Amino acid sequence: MATIDGLPPLREVLRTHDLVAKKSLGQNFLLDLNLTAKIARSAGDLTGADVLEIGPGPGGLTRGLLAEGARKVLAIEKDTRCLPALAEIAAAYPGRLEVINGDALEIDPLSHLTPPIKIAANLPYNVGTELLVRWLTPKNWPPFWESLTLMFQREVAERIVAKPGSNHYGRLAILAQWRAEAKIVMSLPPEAFTPAPKVHSAVVHLRALPEPRYPANAATLSRVVAAGFNQRRKMLRASLKGVAPDIEAKLEKAGIAPTERAEKVTLEQFCRLARIVDGQE
Ligand code: SAM
Repeated sequence: MATIDGLPPLREVLRTHDLVAKKSLGQNFLLDLNLTAKIARSAGDLTGADVLEIGPGPGGLTRGLLAEGARKVLAIEKDTRCLPALAEIAAAYPGRLEVINGDALEIDPLSHLTPPIKIAANLPYNVGTELLVRWLTPKNWPPFWESLTLMFQREVAERIVAKPGSNHYGRLAILAQWRAEAKIVMSLPPEAFTPAPKVHSAVVHLRALPEPRYPANAATLSRVVAAGFNQRRKMLRASLKGVAPDIEAKLEKAGIAPTERAEKVTLEQFCRLARIVDGQE
């Protein structure tokens, strides 16, 4: 059966290259090219942009990104078994796909990319969360990327977009929403993947804001939020006790009741508290 890019269907690619999914690498492949094209489209207009893809596997999403017009895709894949399949895609899109074999947690991709840069990935969930936190906490803002389009298990996606008062609200929501606009753009059932994982998944799109929604020092905000949510059932006057002297007065100045719990505090209030802790207000 022909595909839009003239390359073989992904099931055939898996057979030809004997790519049996490995649990240890969190491999759950997307084999429907219509679906991968749809995920690529949810990353926005790709023409004129370099796309960093982490964990291309047999290349379903990679093909979607290239077919949707990415100027270049830089794909970092740990599993050497996937390289021959990726080389076939590179040959079909001359000069537009560069593959690096290695661990995305250890490779700095910046020297291989030219702005504007977008990031797209369907990654094992643990690696995905770690990379997301790194991408959200660079030293300087705006970051090197314009947007992130990432597959997560549904529960993690809910934590990224959560609002105050929700059970999912925590450090990840604050980190994501302080300097980016985050939304869930697609939901996928387990059967969308081969093999099917146990849980539902969702694609989250994050667009970097030119500057933070509210001023605050990143390290202080991070410290306040981590302390608040580490003991999320405790009142803030107790959970934030070690963060700064006179924390009750500081909470009150920020408009937060000292008996409140972290999950009720808005992003704006957390930022104000961080400024007060730093003596800026
Ligand atoms: N993107 C492909 C797709 O959608 O069908 C594969 C998705 S699969 C969930 C995750 C991929 O990430 C696998 O190909 C796996 O080998 C790769 N991977 C896992 N850990 C990695 C790491 N630390 N660095 C780079 N790639 C990794």
